[in-house]
Amino acid sequence: MNQDIIFDLIEKEKQRQIKGIELIASENFVSEDVMKAAGSVLTNKYAEGYPGRRYYGGCEIVDDIEQIAIDRAKELFGAEFVNVQPHSGAQANAAVFLACLKPGETVMGLDLAHGGHLTHGSPVNFSGLTYNPVFYKVNKEDGRINYEEMVETALREKPKLIIIGASAYSRDYDYKKFREVANEVGAVLMADISHPSGLIAKGILNDPMPYCDIVTTTTHKTLRGTRGGMIMLGKDFENPFGHKTPKGELKLMSQILDSAVFPGTQGGPLEHIIAAKAITFNEALSDNYFNYILQVLKNAQTLSKALVERGFDIISGGTDNHLMLIDLHNKNITGKAAEKLLEQADITCNKNMIPYDDRSPFITSGIRLGTAAVTTRGLKEEDMIKIADFINDVISDPENETTINKVKAEVNLLMNSKPLFQW
Ligand SMILES: *Cc1c(COP(=O)(O)O)cnc(C)c1O
Repeated sequence: MNQDIIFDLIEKEKQRQIKGIELIASENFVSEDVMKAAGSVLTNKYAEGYPGRRYYGGCEIVDDIEQIAIDRAKELFGAEFVNVQPHSGAQANAAVFLACLKPGETVMGLDLAHGGHLTHGSPVNFSGLTYNPVFYKVNKEDGRINYEEMVETALREKPKLIIIGASAYSRDYDYKKFREVANEVGAVLMADISHPSGLIAKGILNDPMPYCDIVTTTTHKTLRGTRGGMIMLGKDFENPFGHKTPKGELKLMSQILDSAVFPGTQGGPLEHIIAAKAITFNEALSDNYFNYILQVLKNAQTLSKALVERGFDIISGGTDNHLMLIDLHNKNITGKAAEKLLEQADITCNKNMIPYDDRSPFITSGIRLGTAAVTTRGLKEEDMIKIADFINDVISDPENETTINKVKAEVNLLMNSKPLFQW
């Protein structure tokens, strides 16, 4: 039988994942159950609309699945409303922008070059192209958010939407400070917890729910689920901009957000992915997952400490979550070169801008590392010390092929002792 070449390539990718050390902070490995649901017959079903109010027949079963996903997400995050349909984190954010802003209105987020995300107002993204973005930053000295400047910017620019959250920020947030200034300028306050959502769900980091009007997240980073996004509301909240229904009464934010996802920015939901999300949430509700996410944090803190001991400059000096950003200036190597070099030793990470970077986003002066995926593989503190040595050996001796090959052999040996994909 002639097998489609795609399956050969999938097998190659599987082997790549098995043999390497995965340090990309936004990646993880899902369970067999999550994979089964994501690859199930549910992909055949059209279900535009929401449970109990669909535009297609035959939706009774997917209604049950989606409702279970919603209920589990509510329990996991202590949310009062959840929409599990966004196809990705970017789609979740697009729906929030549509719900809260008119084109041209002002949105404030963390500067992309300081750890923020593309969808928080970058000029190459819909968020920066359609709306008027302004940014807050981190301090040059300590790499932490400059709250004073953030408040000044908000008071001056009067954004309609303020976004808390980042893709490359290793510290926790003072949600109360953001709430106070949001109240003062009449802004909707949103937290995008795509990266640290697993740590937040298990109470290891501050909880945005009591302070933020809207919380968005991906489901595939620390949460360890299928690729996807979702939107949550922390409390009963009426849109302060007075969106009117045809009858003239104020519409609840939950209805506005549902409409902003479908039909606002998406068509039919991916019910196979929603089923996989439901399984992810159930897994994350377990004590096992609590132990996992606590180990993610311990591993990140051990790795950052070991790297500091080896002369690496970690932005802000350490981490409160699963990730860290390394400034490579004192190692005389660019982020791009470091990423490539580590990949030769089967260690995967990504080059990343550091705050106040003097190099372009294509070159960069930093790399970002995260421990969510290696912790799923079963690596513990002692392995983080080994990883710090691997990274140090390769980056300190970049021209030396023998070093790279020696590290690669050790990497493969370590990962072969940590089975992945039992199916
Ligand atoms: C990853 C991420 C997203 C986007 O998620 P996608 O699923 O890749 O669209 C949005 N916001 C933040 C802060 C992220 O880190």
